[in-house]
Amino acid sequence: MSRLRGFKLGLFIVGFVLMLPVLVPIGLVSDAMARRRLKAAARSATCPSCGATLGVRAIELADAAWKQFMRGLREKHPDAKFRVVKTVDAICPKCAAELALVEADRSFAPAERPLRGGATQDAAESRAQIRRDR
Ligand SMILES: [Zn+2]
Repeated sequence: MSRLRGFKLGLFIVGFVLMLPVLVPIGLVSDAMARRRLKAAARSATCPSCGATLGVRAIELADAAWKQFMRGLREKHPDAKFRVVKTVDAICPKCAAELALVEADRSFAPAERPLRGGATQDAAESRAQIRRDR
C-alpha cells in the first residue's frame, strides 16, 4: 500500500469514527420514522385480498412471522451469516395475506417474496444470501 493510500485510508477511518456520534442517532431516528410511517399507513390501509382494515396488528403479525422465519433459518444453518431483506411488512389479521408497503402511495400490495408456504419458503431461503463462517 502506498503512503498516500495509507494516509487516505487512515483519514477515512478517523473521519468515520469521529462521525459515529452523529451517524448513529441519524440511523436510529431514520429507522423510527420509517416504522412510524409503516404503522400510519397500516392504520388506514385495507387488505387487497379481503378488504379488511389492516391496522397496527398487521405490522405486529409481520414482525412475529419475520422473527419466526429468521429463527428457522438460524436453526437450519447455525454456522451461516445471513444478509436478508425483510420482504413482508404486514400480514392481514383476517385472511393472513402477506403484504409489502408500496412507498409511492403508502398502500399495501401482496408481497413478492412471501414468508410462508412450503415451496415459497424454500425459495425464500435459497434467495437468502448465505455466507458461511469459514
Ligand atoms: Zn385480508
